[in-house]
Amino acid sequence: MTGAWDPRPPLAAIGRRFYERGWMWATAGNLSARPDPDSFWITASGVSKGDLGPDDFLRIALADGRVLEGGANRKPSAETAIHRAIYQTQTAAHACLHGHSVESILASRGRDPVVLPRVEMIKALGVWDDGTPTALPVFTNHPDVALIGRAVETFLRDHPRPLPALIVRDHGVTAWGRTISEALRHFEAVEFLLALLARGF
Ligand SMILES: [Zn+2]
Repeated sequence: MTGAWDPRPPLAAIGRRFYERGWMWATAGNLSARPDPDSFWITASGVSKGDLGPDDFLRIALADGRVLEGGANRKPSAETAIHRAIYQTQTAAHACLHGHSVESILASRGRDPVVLPRVEMIKALGVWDDGTPTALPVFTNHPDVALIGRAVETFLRDHPRPLPALIVRDHGVTAWGRTISEALRHFEAVEFLLALLARGF
């Protein structure tokens, strides 16, 4: 253990909330946070995100994806590759939240990128009427998640000031922030805006 801040309890609380909203049903999604520059805690594969305990998280080395501690012999989420790509390119990011919502799938059908509507909620992403683009990138949902991670890393290296979120097609949203609460605000705002699009806005 690093002796650093332990993000597992606040991430477990988010898991309960997201599960209740239908964003993490059937063990879907994953939540992570970085207590130090070199590692992050992430949810284990195949566990219900509505009832996460301390053993349902593993601490991962940012540099090579090695498991450093935790998890009680469980595997890290396959989608750890996407979290690593975000932490490696967004050095200010300390939390990363990923869910599988109905709205994200409906809203990204036939759209690439997904241009978020400039309604009041867009302010939660730090964007308003200053002309900042509101296009969320859409990535192909490769069966080999490492390929998604590589595509995300390439995109983020090529786009120095991205919106703090992305979509994997027919899959779901990932949002990040400097803190867990900022990542939560970004995630909720994106889901709200995608729900508008899914309803024909
Ligand atoms: Zn997923």
